[in-house]
Amino acid sequence: MAKIGFIGLGIMGKPMSKNLIKAGHALVVYDLVAERVEEVAAAGAEKGSSARDVASRSEVVITMLPDGPDVERAVLGPDGVLEGAQRGSLAIDMSSINPLVAQKVGAACEARGVDFLDAPVSGGEPKAIDGTLAIMVGGKQEVFDRALPILQAMGSTVTLTGPVGAGNVTKLANQIIVAVNIAAMGEALVLATKAGLDPEVVFQAIRGGLAGSAVLNAKAPMVIGRNFQPGFRIALHHKDLRNALQAAESLSVPLPVTSLVQQMIVALINDGKGDLDHSGITLFTEQTAKVEVRKQG
Ligand code: NAD
Repeated sequence: MAKIGFIGLGIMGKPMSKNLIKAGHALVVYDLVAERVEEVAAAGAEKGSSARDVASRSEVVITMLPDGPDVERAVLGPDGVLEGAQRGSLAIDMSSINPLVAQKVGAACEARGVDFLDAPVSGGEPKAIDGTLAIMVGGKQEVFDRALPILQAMGSTVTLTGPVGAGNVTKLANQIIVAVNIAAMGEALVLATKAGLDPEVVFQAIRGGLAGSAVLNAKAPMVIGRNFQPGFRIALHHKDLRNALQAAESLSVPLPVTSLVQQMIVALINDGKGDLDHSGITLFTEQTAKVEVRKQG
C-alpha cells in the first residue's frame, strides 16, 4: 500500500480521500480550510501543514482542486508539491482543468523527476462517496499502470485516453454533453409544465425512451423537487465550459451550442446562482418563460 498525500478536501476530495483510507492506504491530507483537514483526520489520515509538507511525506500526491490556477499554485508555487516531492514519486491531478495547464504542470513535474498524470473524474458527489467514479486519464502507459490500483479505489472505470492533457480533453467532452443535456432537459420540462402537465409524469413517461439519460435521471428529480443543493456548482460548470471554449478556439473548432449554454450560465451567475447545483441551469429557462417546474398536487 502506498503512502498517499491528498490535497483538496472539498465536495469531491473528502469522500475520495476517505475511500483511499478504506482501501488500506496511509494518507496525509491538506486543505486551505482547517476543518476539512480535521474531518478527514478523524477518519484516519495524518494532518499535513502545506502542499510541500504533504509531498515530502508521500510517494504519491493527489490534488483535487477547483481550477488550473489552484493546481499551479499548489504544485508549482511556493510551499507547493514540487518543493517537497522526492524524485521517483508520482503526482496525480484529479481536478478538471484546462488541458494546456495540465501539460504545463506535467512538464514541470517531469523536469524534477516526478511522474505525472492528469486524471479528472465524472460522477459527482454520489459516485465519489460510492467509489464508482469514471476516471479519465492522460499520461504514459507505465505511469498509468503504477497508478491504476490507487485510482481503482476511487472509481469503477479508469481509462487511459492519451498522453498528459488527454484526461482533461476527455473531461471537457463529458462536460459539454452534461451541460447541453441539462439545458435541453430544462427547456423540455418548462414547456411541459407551462402546457399544464405534471413534470414528474412527463419525466416518468420519457425516461425509458431515447431521451432517457444518466443526466435526466440524476437532475430531473432535483429540479422537480426544487432541490438545487450542490452537487456540482454552476460556477464550476462555467469554468469547464470556458476551458472547453478556449481549447476549441486553439483548435479552430466552432462550439455554438456550448457557447449558448455558457451564456445562460453567465446570466445565472450574475443573478447570484453560481453556488447552486448545475441542475439550476433550468432556472434560466424558467425565468424567461415565467413558470416553475414543480410536481403538481
Ligand atoms: P470544492 O470547491 O468543493 O473543493 C475544492 C477544495 O480545494 C476546497 O476544499 C478548497 O479549500 C481546496 N483548495 C483550493 N485551493 C487549495 C490549495 N491551494 N491548497 C489546498 N487546498 C485548496 O470543489 P469540488 O466540487 O470538490 O471539485 C473539485 C474538482 O473536481 C473541480 O475541478 C471540479 O470541476 C471537479 N469535479 C467536481 C464534481 C462535483 O460534482 N462536485 C464532479 C466532477 C468533477
